[in-house]
Amino acid sequence: MKKHNFSAGPSILAKEVIENTAKAVNDLNGIGLSVMEISHRGKDFQAVMDEAQALFKEILNVPEGYHVMFLGGGASLQFCMVPYNLLALKAAYLETGSWAKKAIKEAKFFGTVEIIGSSADNNFNYIPRGYVIPEDADYFHITTNNTIFGTQIKEDMDSPVPLIADVSSDILSRPMDVSKYGLIYGGAQKNLGPAGVTFVIIREDLLGKVSRQIPTMLDYKTHIENGSMFNTPPCLPVYTCLETLRWIKKLGGLEKMKQRNEEKAKLIYDEIERNLMFIGTAEKESRSDMNVCFVMNPDFKDLEKEFLDFTAQKNMVGLKGHRSVGGFRASIYNAMPVESVKALVETMKEFEQKYAK
Ligand SMILES: *Cc1c(COP(=O)(O)O)cnc(C)c1O
Repeated sequence: MKKHNFSAGPSILAKEVIENTAKAVNDLNGIGLSVMEISHRGKDFQAVMDEAQALFKEILNVPEGYHVMFLGGGASLQFCMVPYNLLALKAAYLETGSWAKKAIKEAKFFGTVEIIGSSADNNFNYIPRGYVIPEDADYFHITTNNTIFGTQIKEDMDSPVPLIADVSSDILSRPMDVSKYGLIYGGAQKNLGPAGVTFVIIREDLLGKVSRQIPTMLDYKTHIENGSMFNTPPCLPVYTCLETLRWIKKLGGLEKMKQRNEEKAKLIYDEIERNLMFIGTAEKESRSDMNVCFVMNPDFKDLEKEFLDFTAQKNMVGLKGHRSVGGFRASIYNAMPVESVKALVETMKEFEQKYAK
């Protein structure tokens, strides 16, 4: 029996996506070859890449003038590629967690970094407010969903300078006004596909504004001009992303995803609030629909391991919180069925019955 998979990443994929990938691993569209053993430049793989890029644009409603790329290196390489390509003098960053800090560290290699808002003072349990985006910055960088701390920016904000977002863990979880962003990027392994591929969506006019020389593989222009085929792309992960995009389209697109995700998140947050044994760690206004972080009520502190064992007996995995928050984290990405969320809520209730009542 398939386990209830609450892992933060790599994380759950839709059943149908895994099954269709397995088919293509054996035989892609009946061509008598695996998707893993064909030339990336042949027509069969070209069709996969073309459809993946086109569907990404269609589902996310990407306006004209943007390019969709599938690259290697993870979101972590984008922490470096973004400033390499776009930071001439100064960039503004919002410091909302561990991933934001890593992005800031890389940007400092290329210019001045102004941290205009931070929630470090409270272990990143909220999204900073009331900051001012400097108009002389080359761009403003945010992390829309803070996977580790369970906070999320759910609105597409206005920015006087190009807005750049690490959307690794909430891409395609809701409709997004891409026209408000200059560039969005993310590793696929949270909400889109397996590890090994990174998506970048960039507005063309951001390019060509820095004077430094950029090594070929790190230059966005290289990958745009070559349709993500300058070198061999991660063919199999791209194929799985395509299957996820097809699955999202079939389910009704991003409005539907948003509705499902809000429903799932509400079930768990309501239970955390009701249940005597657990306390949510993120501030209510900032909390994420993708990663739900909670800890044991201090009165029951000793039962933390007990609870994890209890969930394991119920066939649940991936609920241990990140070491920088402790406690528990339920990652409930797009592919997580509402049934698994209900099973977790039931388990939390049972645990309370057993130990607190
Ligand atoms: C997981 C994650 C990353 C790191 O992605 P890699 O592909 O492992 O480099 C970056 N940002 C966020 C928000 C993440 O959740």
